[in-house]
Amino acid sequence: MTLLASIPKVDRILERDGIKALLGLHPRPIVLDAIRAVLDSLRASARAGTLQEEQLHEGAVTAGIEREVARATACSLRRVVNGTGVVIHTNLGRSLLSKRVKPLLDEIAYGYSNLEFDLEKGERGSRYSHVERLLCELTGAEAALVVNNNAAAVLLALSAMAAGKEVVVSRGELVEIGGSFRIPDVMGQGGAILREVGTTNRTHPRDYRQAITPETALLLKVHSSNFAVVGFTAEVTAADLVAIGREHSVPVMADIGSGCLLDLSPFGICGEPTVQEFIRAGVDVITFSGDKLLGGPQAGIIVGRREFIAPLKKHQLLRALRIDKLTLAALEGTLRLYRDERQALAEIPTLRMLTASAGELESRARSIARRIRRASSPSVRLTLAGGISQVGGGAYPLLELPTTLIAVEIDGITPQDMEVRLRGGGGPVAGRIHKGRFLLDVRTLQDDDIPFIAAALRSLTD
Ligand SMILES: *Cc1c(COP(=O)(O)O)cnc(C)c1O
Repeated sequence: MTLLASIPKVDRILERDGIKALLGLHPRPIVLDAIRAVLDSLRASARAGTLQEEQLHEGAVTAGIEREVARATACSLRRVVNGTGVVIHTNLGRSLLSKRVKPLLDEIAYGYSNLEFDLEKGERGSRYSHVERLLCELTGAEAALVVNNNAAAVLLALSAMAAGKEVVVSRGELVEIGGSFRIPDVMGQGGAILREVGTTNRTHPRDYRQAITPETALLLKVHSSNFAVVGFTAEVTAADLVAIGREHSVPVMADIGSGCLLDLSPFGICGEPTVQEFIRAGVDVITFSGDKLLGGPQAGIIVGRREFIAPLKKHQLLRALRIDKLTLAALEGTLRLYRDERQALAEIPTLRMLTASAGELESRARSIARRIRRASSPSVRLTLAGGISQVGGGAYPLLELPTTLIAVEIDGITPQDMEVRLRGGGGPVAGRIHKGRFLLDVRTLQDDDIPFIAAALRSLTD
């Protein structure tokens, strides 16, 4: 109890030099909260009988308060080193923007712009016009519109095309994407009535034909994205669905999820259809994400036939789903890189990481390990091992990309402990544990991550 009594009071602490310095840098209420938090925790330790006398030394108390103020004033949103090998990691922000986008982003963020101003006519313009021509040029579509994300794109299209009417979907395509985006629920929100056809594993053209009635507004195809049905399966292709739609004068829509604009099969990445293939198949309306395989900012992109896109541009819901100017700048900057396929592959981080060869990854792993070794303590042991990375973002769920992993070992620290401390510490570094080792996959590491990794490892050994 004597220790409890010797815990200083707030007023006394406020007179200390270290705290006066903190008050010069931070608002008083934040410093006061930090002091109270530290004193509360000291009192709790004293009552539990675990308080040591040196914890009450002025230097120790001040350091505790400084840490608390630093914690309270740090940005919540911060950079994380992605050593998981999941390229389109939804929890870590999906796609990284290309550095090539930065000049346009700066220009639009810090200056006024022609966001909704037609510079030629000197009258109000449309924010949607800036990327429409580019999207049409790249995909072969007649018209395009961009919204906040793909979920919004699906909601808008269904609300405009099928409210109060029936939408025919295969039972094998009623998908749930992470974060509980469920196709049946979005259809309900859009006011459309779901008409399920076929079975989980097999759906045939006749299933769609039999379901079409005067109440049918739309035939919808949804890319299975994050799962695969294998074995005895049958699915109706986009081209066949378009033929059925034309027979009955019913439009066809496809939610293709990823929005791949390049054929990645030369890199062993097969099975994800490109947007252009859906346009060529004659699909009337196609929706996809901006920040999955496309490698741009979060956005929902709608491309297709003019007669179906035009009403979407006038729909009341569009205002609530509209894309912001920074996103639009990042999207235009990203799409421009697709005009030259080699440039897109080299400059868009998502594509660069996905198409990196095994040899390239191995030599990068050597060089990264060397640089981390140089900057961290000798007790950190780094070894290279072969492994598998994943695409993520609900694309190519079964695809295994061969990669090189850096295994990190420090005597006296378990891999579980290391994982927790690297994730919770400065830098934060996300990796994974496999067979008792903490691993960093070089596929998703950036060159400028290396100082953060080295500092995070130093904090474990110091
Ligand atoms: C990812 C995905 C969505 C949701 O896209 P967001 O851009 O995250 O809103 C919708 N449909 C499919 C098929 C998807 O793969």
